[in-house]
Amino acid sequence: MEEDMKQKSSESVAEFDIEKIRENRIKEAHDKHIEDWKPKTKLGVLVKEKKITSLDEALQLKILEPEIVDSLISLKSEILNIGQAKGKFGGGKRRAWRQTQRKTAEGNVPTFSCMSVVGNENGYVGIGYGRAKETLPARAKATRKAKLNLIKIKRACASFDCVCGEPHTVPFIVEGKAGSSRVKLMPAPQGTGLVIGDECKKILKLAGIKDVYSRTKGKKRTTINLAKACIDALQKTMEM
Ligand SMILES: [Zn+2]
Repeated sequence: MEEDMKQKSSESVAEFDIEKIRENRIKEAHDKHIEDWKPKTKLGVLVKEKKITSLDEALQLKILEPEIVDSLISLKSEILNIGQAKGKFGGGKRRAWRQTQRKTAEGNVPTFSCMSVVGNENGYVGIGYGRAKETLPARAKATRKAKLNLIKIKRACASFDCVCGEPHTVPFIVEGKAGSSRVKLMPAPQGTGLVIGDECKKILKLAGIKDVYSRTKGKKRTTINLAKACIDALQKTMEM
């Protein structure tokens, strides 16, 4: 019986180790990239020499290198579904890659584009759009741009029927727009969740907002503009 227990615990330890080793490996690769990074901008040099250690300070200036953001905070990223698989009657399934074609004398040349969100789930978030001849480079470009577009947002416990005091929602009603899309975010009490479409949900989640009511106007199916409107709304949380 005792032996059984021993074996069991050692097994779980082994599993945990593999998970940990994998995590460490990813972290090491990341650290090495940051270490090998040769900054090309003034801000990059300051960050590399550890003269600037807070992201807020860096955000005062224009960030032109994604490594600046990477060496200051750790970010999570996600892909927004902006594309559509082919389907009859326009009923294609949502997909991460948007495929467009250019017509040339030699034939059709496809281009893939992709939209990526990055955030630390604690007040910083950014979106980026990238295009390339293939899917993975498009994603890399999008993530890179998302890091450069990072913004800081303000959160609060601002709902009239919530007194928890934790920053879990938007501080007041904010409205953002891009193209024909409008997004209105309203404070909500704890436990409400994100009452908004799936793509905006990803953005709010990475920004660190847990509860929100929303209203959207305009063409909701154009995800790109909807995402931009969402970011525009979040940016307005800093305006008061
Ligand atoms: Zn609250």
